[in-house]
Amino acid sequence: MELEQLVARLLAKDPARRPDSADEVYDLLDEINDRCFGDTSPIPSRGADITSEVWLSPREATDGAVIPMRMTARETCPDCATTGDETKVLGCSTCRGEGRVVSKRHTYKVRVPAGVKDGQKIRLRELGAPGKHGGAPGDLYVTVHVT
Ligand SMILES: [Zn+2]
Repeated sequence: MELEQLVARLLAKDPARRPDSADEVYDLLDEINDRCFGDTSPIPSRGADITSEVWLSPREATDGAVIPMRMTARETCPDCATTGDETKVLGCSTCRGEGRVVSKRHTYKVRVPAGVKDGQKIRLRELGAPGKHGGAPGDLYVTVHVT
């Protein structure tokens, strides 16, 4: 294979057969690596960020609190998303090619840090919408209202 040919060239008795420089060897190895081990599978996209709002009492805002928050989540389509076959996803009748279906309402327990102010936005990592075809979920941005 290519790697063996490269090694044979490196060990060649005739200096003219050897690569000219270490840089050339690096480039050849890089090329072989890309051809043999290159990742050709598409990377699942990251999901969308979601914004929401939450209402806190002055005390909760000052002290911090864990509050329940209801959200409608779009979930990975059970009929096509696990196949990884893009053509099947596009022809899927359950999700109509989106890779996701609107399904359940989830109640997330959200931890609000102490000392938040009215109008402040809190970022909650990976509580947003799931990615298309199994990608990582986006973030959830919650705007705090203190009343
Ligand atoms: Zn589907």
